[in-house]
Amino acid sequence: MVVVYCPTCDRRTLMGLDEVEWVHNLAPGVISVSGHCPQGHPAVLLTGAAFYRVCRPIP
Ligand SMILES: [Zn+2]
Repeated sequence: MVVVYCPTCDRRTLMGLDEVEWVHNLAPGVISVSGHCPQGHPAVLLTGAAFYRVCRPIP
């Protein structure tokens, strides 16, 4: 499961991996995951190693 944000519903929602339509490597460590929210709106998630490096707390 991945969490995606739908700007139309203005909420985050869970998307199963079988609902993912596209996965694009935008840049090294940056991955775009595309699908639809439960209401059918297009929703996109940006993830990848680059985001984890940014978001990981400094030890
Ligand atoms: Zn939606």
